[in-house]
Amino acid sequence: MRNDALILALDQGTTSSRAILFDRMGAAVRVAQRPVAATYPQPGWVNQDPLELWRATRDCAREVLADDGVDPARVAAIAITNQRETTILWDRRTGEPVAPAIVWQSRQSAPVVAAIAARGKTAEYQSRTGLVPDAYFSATKIAWLLDHDPSLRARSVAGEICFGTVESWLLWNLSGGTVHATDASNASRTMLMDLATRQWDAELLADMDIPAAMMPRIVGNAGVVCETAPSLFGRPIPVAGMAGDQQSALFGQACFAPGDAKNTYGTGSFLLMNAGPAPAVSRHNLLSTMGWVLPSGPTYALEGAVFVTGSAVQWLRDGLGIIDTAAAIEPLAASVPDAAGVMFVPALTGLGAPWWDPNARGAIIGLTRGTTTAHIARATLDAIAHQCRDVVDAMGDDAGIPLSTLKVDGGAAANNLLMQTQADLLGVPVVRPANIETTALGAAYLAALGVGLYSGLDEIAANWRIDRVFEPAISSDERDSRHARWRKAVHRSLAWAE
Ligand code: ADP
Repeated sequence: MRNDALILALDQGTTSSRAILFDRMGAAVRVAQRPVAATYPQPGWVNQDPLELWRATRDCAREVLADDGVDPARVAAIAITNQRETTILWDRRTGEPVAPAIVWQSRQSAPVVAAIAARGKTAEYQSRTGLVPDAYFSATKIAWLLDHDPSLRARSVAGEICFGTVESWLLWNLSGGTVHATDASNASRTMLMDLATRQWDAELLADMDIPAAMMPRIVGNAGVVCETAPSLFGRPIPVAGMAGDQQSALFGQACFAPGDAKNTYGTGSFLLMNAGPAPAVSRHNLLSTMGWVLPSGPTYALEGAVFVTGSAVQWLRDGLGIIDTAAAIEPLAASVPDAAGVMFVPALTGLGAPWWDPNARGAIIGLTRGTTTAHIARATLDAIAHQCRDVVDAMGDDAGIPLSTLKVDGGAAANNLLMQTQADLLGVPVVRPANIETTALGAAYLAALGVGLYSGLDEIAANWRIDRVFEPAISSDERDSRHARWRKAVHRSLAWAE
């Protein structure tokens, strides 16, 4: 393998497709990005055009490969990472989509979830797949599509229709319509994969009335799955690594040991912890999911989502108008030594893990005559950190392993005051890497492993560079009393909309 080899990572997200060329040190050499549209046909529904997702991805790939100065022969492999759970059905013969892509956020399959509950099967899905049944997961979206077009069900039984999540659809197109496969991390988000055996669960398929003939083959996360059709990029390139976006970020953050965890601070936050070689069982309704499958074996993960973190900052900007930009929250919050007793519970869309209360609503409590916008800004950053601590506490309990450090990424991880507050409230160091493109990077690392560019995980971990470490700077007494007050504030917001 040549030393100047490059990996082309394709990152198909909810709002854009990107292509990034990485060198073997994990540095981004070239980037191209194109927006992708979504439609909202009814309240709560979110759809995308599968062909647009493919064409945007293909065109970004062509753009970075066409760049002067990149010798195409240096590109050793392609990696794919993607928005998870989004569901696409296409015709096996023509490759044409037979329905819009149903995006992970879409609630249109909520009646399918209600039907699972009515059949008394919720616990069975949870114990076999690790997932708490929800309209997010692909099985409910497939069932919805088949229920709404009887001709599709007949064609699916006959093997004429393929189902895939986004990486599977891109892989099919990259292979020129010859390979129908999905990786284990994406398969674990369908609510149809048995987490222990990593195979489709025949009983769950039957319960959902989803024909096995439409399901892709489940493959590991690193290893050559196919070569690209020669017409696409001028010469065939192996596709050698795939993972869903959050698992890819966990890998890109080099969270290779049980207990290693990362948190992505975006609109909401996704906390994932490496749970080791066997599925974890959650007592707090966290999701138990696949991390990745390498030739050396499987790694499982625990996942907890906080719905409102960066979007609370957006609300201060757009709803209250007390800041002009998201980044302006940091100097405003830093202008006071603390929130002066103000607590903000940003339960703007209910509360997720570990509270699970859709009827919780936002609350700002502890106001006095002296409260200013700076205190509310400070309380907002505190709230993001408290919510993440709640998930970390639940995870540590489920995994039986305490957190040793938290690795961070995402847009709001740039906020130094937030990161210091997070370290203070967790009582462990918060570590921000130099490269925060961890999602695309994780997939690139998987593909590099898949073509033998790296000898093993040690080499990847050695590539991972720290930008800054935030050490806890308050006593454990203060930490506990602040978090106890937070929990008291949360209790005031629970069940409010009932
Ligand atoms: P996503 O991928 O979910 O769109 P990003 O990773 O781009 O999100 O992060 C954007 C979010 O982070 C927005 O909700 C924004 O309000 C918040 N954000 C961005 N910069 C900062 C900052 N410096 N401090 C706090 N929040 C920020």
